[in-house]
Amino acid sequence: MLEKVLIANRGEIALRILRACKELRIKTVAVHSKIDAALKHVKLADEAICIGPNPSAQSYLNIPAIISAMEITNASAVHPGYGFLAESADFAERVENSGFVFIGPTANVTRMMGDKVSAIQAMKKAGVPTVPGSDGTIDDDFEKTSAIAEKIGYPVIIKAAAGGGGKGMRVAQNTAQLKTALSLTSKEAKQAFGNDTLYIEKFLNNPRHIEVQILSDGQGGVVHLGDRDCSLQRRHQKILEEAPAPGIPEELRSQLHKKCVNACVQIGYRGAGTFEFLYQDNEFFFIEMNTRIQVEHPVSEMITGIDLVKQQLLIASGHLLKLQQKDIVFRGHAFECRINAEHPETFAPQPGVIEAYHAPGGNGVRVDSHIYNGYSVPPYYDSLIGKVITYGSDRTSALARMTTALDEMLIDGIETNIPLHADLVRDPNFASGGVSIHYLEEKFLGN
Ligand code: ADP
Repeated sequence: MLEKVLIANRGEIALRILRACKELRIKTVAVHSKIDAALKHVKLADEAICIGPNPSAQSYLNIPAIISAMEITNASAVHPGYGFLAESADFAERVENSGFVFIGPTANVTRMMGDKVSAIQAMKKAGVPTVPGSDGTIDDDFEKTSAIAEKIGYPVIIKAAAGGGGKGMRVAQNTAQLKTALSLTSKEAKQAFGNDTLYIEKFLNNPRHIEVQILSDGQGGVVHLGDRDCSLQRRHQKILEEAPAPGIPEELRSQLHKKCVNACVQIGYRGAGTFEFLYQDNEFFFIEMNTRIQVEHPVSEMITGIDLVKQQLLIASGHLLKLQQKDIVFRGHAFECRINAEHPETFAPQPGVIEAYHAPGGNGVRVDSHIYNGYSVPPYYDSLIGKVITYGSDRTSALARMTTALDEMLIDGIETNIPLHADLVRDPNFASGGVSIHYLEEKFLGN
């Protein structure tokens, strides 16, 4: 077993990783920026080191500082969480080259999946269905690109190969829009990801976002933990998730799960990972793979009883997967609401002091959060301040629990998106299941 893990993250996920380490009796090192010294996981970790000033570029993204912290504390491995360096192949490589364990796939696999174009090509080869598209990157030749778009058929979506977090994507309805979309997306991609490589896909008009969670030991053992529906999004960012994805024919789902498991074997995947798909007219289309633990992982944990972060730690310790597919039993239904420190209507970030906090609780309610009375939400990082997860023996009871839990959650001092969630869980269309990725923006935001 790994002896000491450095947690290269902050907030709720750092706390989540700390809890899994403690259960496995692994020692922990917290690294933090100046302002984060009072975070709960920093206080609870065996050791803590300040790695830099508040801006993430100088702290949570500061690779030399993190590697030095590993050396100083004699940590054997690093857990990157999600965001920050979680999908940085360069970071994984530096960690490996320094003789430490990166809790995730090999740097090569991270690199291949981090580039969406090579990821799509690998998936095609592995027999996973993909969105009709440019079949590789596009170049500066507008005539050529325009011919590709015509062939795919408008509307098309221009995407950055290095894109992530909902950035670096633009829809074009016709040739005129294509030209503008190409130049805007290319500029944005260069600025955000330092890489302006683009590709084109058919823009699906009314899909759902469905993803498959897998665990792979990198030594031939692979299982899936079923699917999640993450269609409720704003600006391509997930807000509310559930497992399993409702209303999909069983046969289609199980075929998809099997394809993902096979693809893991083919690409030599190691760790926890997610295959993301769009689902429309009874067809699945791969869009990307996330080579890390995801924000929404708890909904899969709730319906399988499997602790995904503990599994990541076991895999990184070199253990073979003890789980076999037949042992994984899917029971009930789970929802997750992402609680963000942002205005429920304008979505403007709301940093500031939480003057009073009452967490929801009770049967089937899980709260993953680092906040407390008097905690000051810093303006430097993502606005996620916690996740409310509810479980029920069926979808209706899990949703009823979420409704109660949201009403019970009180946060004073800053605005949050709890009122938006409270509306969503009472929406009859959402309650019947299976709304598309455009639903939230169309119905609630008037876009
Ligand atoms: P990111 O890496 O930024 O998360 P993804 O490729 O995973 O980007 O896409 C994020 C979201 O953007 C999807 O969940 C979906 O809502 C939308 N999207 C992506 N590709 C398409 C497409 N071809 N057609 C329609 N919507 C898309």
